[in-house]
Amino acid sequence: MADVVTKVEVPGLKKTASGKVREIFEIDEKTLLFVATDRISAYDVVLENGIPSKGAILTQLSAFWFTLIATHLPNLKTHLLSTTLPASLPQTLTPRSMLVRRIPVIPLESIVRGYITGSAWAECKKHGTVHGMRMPEGLRESERLEKPIWTPSTKAEQGEHDENISRARAVELVGEGVAGKVEEASLRIYEIARDYAEERGIIIADTKFEFGWDEAAQEVVLIDEVLTPDSSRFWPKEKYEVGKSQRSYDKQYLRDWLTSSGLKGKDGVKMPEEVVQETASKYREAYEMLTGKKWA
Ligand code: ATP
Ligand code: MG
Repeated sequence: MADVVTKVEVPGLKKTASGKVREIFEIDEKTLLFVATDRISAYDVVLENGIPSKGAILTQLSAFWFTLIATHLPNLKTHLLSTTLPASLPQTLTPRSMLVRRIPVIPLESIVRGYITGSAWAECKKHGTVHGMRMPEGLRESERLEKPIWTPSTKAEQGEHDENISRARAVELVGEGVAGKVEEASLRIYEIARDYAEERGIIIADTKFEFGWDEAAQEVVLIDEVLTPDSSRFWPKEKYEVGKSQRSYDKQYLRDWLTSSGLKGKDGVKMPEEVVQETASKYREAYEMLTGKKWA
């Protein structure tokens, strides 16, 4: 079985940030080493043990999408510089790592929804709106929206929850120029990915992008991970049924286990082997269906 890596240190490199899943190291002023660990979080809490190969799957799937997006949107810049590491770095990190362009992060989670579920469905049921936008009468849970919508949220500090915001609030935060570019790029990427994935049996119900801002070019740059099970809701198309909640290809098994065992939201929880293996196989399955390649 593959080693499970939940902590990463790179001798000689300064760690600039540590997220719930990734560790980021400084290569130089312009370049970062972006390493995905095998950590997994659910309900905003990181579990004690990891999921074998998860970090490598997230990195390889993101790399796959960066390439696919570049063929469709050649003018959109991304932060990906390389998926191979200089010989001076530990080569064991290669499958889970990328060299990326260091860039100021635009403080928005750029969420696109093609289907109504999660917090958007909760708001819609209660008020008939999504992030303040009026939704059509009679919309059902998990239903495909006539057109995908851009529903940004704030990027919360560690330990806090992101907050869903209106487009107007996003404009207040980052300005119309930047917000408009983030919105346009997000919707275009989502539509390309949605159509690609649907042909391969996966519905991308919603997803979250992050962008950096290239001041010199006055352009947005796609950063972070893209279109992975951690940043998106992937539903198996063959099981899709409107009017109820869907089981997704990601942490559903883990979430169900946390809820049923009363451990939801608690710190220091260790997953049993069965939950680890089931979750690992879901991540592999999503990778294989989307890329058409066997996970090696
Ligand atoms: P948080 O920062 O809230 O813990 P997270 O748990 O999603 O978020 P990870 O996915 O583990 O974080 O780590 C990725 C972090 O790196 C995010 O905070 C993201 O904004 C940041 N990031 C991604 N790409 C770049 C880049 N090119 N330059 C600088 N920062 C980046
Ligand atoms: Mg993240």
